[in-house]
Amino acid sequence: MRVRIRDLEMSYPGVTLFHRLSLSLADGEIVCLLGPSGSGKTTLLNILAGSVHPSGGEITPRTAGRVSYLFQESRLLHRLTVLENTIYLMDDGIPLESRREKGMVLIEKLGLGGFEHRYPDELSGGMARRAALGRMLGRNAGLILMDEPFSSLDGTLRGRLADLTGRLLREENSTALCVTHDESAARGLGDRIIRFVRAEGRTFIA
Ligand code: ADP
Ligand code: MG
Repeated sequence: MRVRIRDLEMSYPGVTLFHRLSLSLADGEIVCLLGPSGSGKTTLLNILAGSVHPSGGEITPRTAGRVSYLFQESRLLHRLTVLENTIYLMDDGIPLESRREKGMVLIEKLGLGGFEHRYPDELSGGMARRAALGRMLGRNAGLILMDEPFSSLDGTLRGRLADLTGRLLREENSTALCVTHDESAARGLGDRIIRFVRAEGRTFIA
């Protein structure tokens, strides 16, 4: 999916975030977004997801409701196994057996093979992250959004998961916007790195 954001306007009481902010993602491009806390990174993802409404600007095509969103916390469903978590956001139109097969392929690729029947409470933090990645990749929406997906992990694991995520996204030719504050994870994952900076009371892309 090629995404074009044009002249976005967004403020909260007491804080202007975006004034005429524009950004494009090419089809199949993985863009990593860095920037200081409070600069509006999460807000931009929420606008793309459709859960926050900007006061102006244009997003083409409409991405609201057509995204796969990996939140900062894993948000796995605790009463579902790894496999059930991986498939429950997949298209209902696909027969359950095919969804399970696709889920198992993802689980193997993510290094969770053998843990598909475990529950989230039985996983380490790194494994829970992998499971959340599997759910995001399984949904296979037009646009993938990730909010600091590796921030809870230690350095080595973070780098490995960032590289793996990049590979899996490229296999599917997915278009993705990933917020991170880790430069090396951004280089491992992204085709392009952009930076938010605060100046003159609003957020610019450097
Ligand atoms: P980042 O993800 O870059 O840290 P956020 O998008 O979370 O930044 O927040 C940007 C700014 O908007 C912050 O100053 C934050 O306090 C403010 N903000 C975010 N969400 C809300 C909200 N629902 N109501 C009011 N202010 C908000
Ligand atoms: Mg944030």
